[in-house]
Amino acid sequence: MTQLHILSPAEAARAVPVDPKRPLLIVDVDEVLAHFMQGFERFVGRHGYEMRIDKFALFQNVYHADTGAPLDMTRGKQLFDDFFLHGADDLDPVDGAAAALEALSLEMSIIILTNAPDHGRDARSGWLTFHGMDYPMIINSGLKGPIVRDLAARTSGKAGFIDDLLPNLESVAEDAPDVLRFQMIADERLRPFAPTVPDRHHWADDWAEMEPAIRRRLLD
Ligand SMILES: [Mg+2]
Repeated sequence: MTQLHILSPAEAARAVPVDPKRPLLIVDVDEVLAHFMQGFERFVGRHGYEMRIDKFALFQNVYHADTGAPLDMTRGKQLFDDFFLHGADDLDPVDGAAAALEALSLEMSIIILTNAPDHGRDARSGWLTFHGMDYPMIINSGLKGPIVRDLAARTSGKAGFIDDLLPNLESVAEDAPDVLRFQMIADERLRPFAPTVPDRHHWADDWAEMEPAIRRRLLD
């Protein structure tokens, strides 16, 4: 795993290995490669909370298991931070993700771009390596448009970006309009509530659909 420890996201975007001639695929982790909602649900379950997914949100789907009281934001942020210290190894990989990336990596550069907290860096890169997705990883914070623009500028080939969150896809559309955009939400419970604009950002339910969609658009 290429470690870009001491670099800011912008510096990492310049330092990360990108083949200047090949296509580039920039891939999110949570809900694209990893079942984050399920893993976070298991983690909060050990702290007396349960998840009832009826909206596109994280903390607002979590309730105290005994009292039914909604999780307040302060406690939610604390649990989220603790998850990346103590729970982030316990994430199930999304079906077919590692095999799809391995096949695609023969024809394009792959960069993992994740908005995890910085203290989760080692757990996150360890998880990716353990599950056969040992590609260069950049930890970002905030909207992903600026860093995707910087990464895409490193190749003369086409670039693609996959994320679950519409704000990141819209941010890329604004800052790097030539980058092809793909949306996936691995959690089937969350998927029906997800904001999507499929004619702007190509939607795929799973990697069986996503891999050929990427191939068609990045390799034609
Ligand atoms: Mg995500």
